[in-house]
Amino acid sequence: MIECYIGLGSNLQNPIQQVQSAVNYLSNWKNLKLIKVSSLYRGAPLGPSDQPDFINAAAYIRTTMTAIQLLNQLQTIEQIHKRERIKHWGPRTLDLDLLLYGNQTILSARLQVPHKEMRQRNFVLYPLFEIAPQLHLPDGQPLKDLLSDCPMGTLERFII
Ligand code: AMP
Repeated sequence: MIECYIGLGSNLQNPIQQVQSAVNYLSNWKNLKLIKVSSLYRGAPLGPSDQPDFINAAAYIRTTMTAIQLLNQLQTIEQIHKRERIKHWGPRTLDLDLLLYGNQTILSARLQVPHKEMRQRNFVLYPLFEIAPQLHLPDGQPLKDLLSDCPMGTLERFII
């Protein structure tokens, strides 16, 4: 079983429910075991500000799938939630990112792991830190060091 971390985000059509539903799918999918899910976090959108706030979370899973199989799986769950992506950095019903796949570094046409923007994004780093405070990236960098360079800003954690 490979230990993986998934980033979840939504800012359309009841984002809290979208993220909770995605977690539900993860917990019921074969070849995949959901181990831990963070609290939900609310934050201002990146890019265009004329869109609703985002709800984000992170999940820790174990799987026997290859990284590409897992990406396919995540994209299937996005499609089930009728993901709409009208413009880059625009609103979306559900975004699932493969943040980390074991200790592997992957660079292919469809997949870059660690996720290419995770180091700079507070809405990825803080939920991840909540569920895996001791985590190191494949290059050995401790997650907690990334947090010290990435302020929480407007991001707020909430428990429902
Ligand atoms: P976005 O909607 O901005 O998350 O981008 C989705 C696209 O990013 C898809 O076409 C994926 O093939 C590609 N991609 C590359 N690396 C990753 C990753 N680590 N997790 C999810 N999607 C990825």
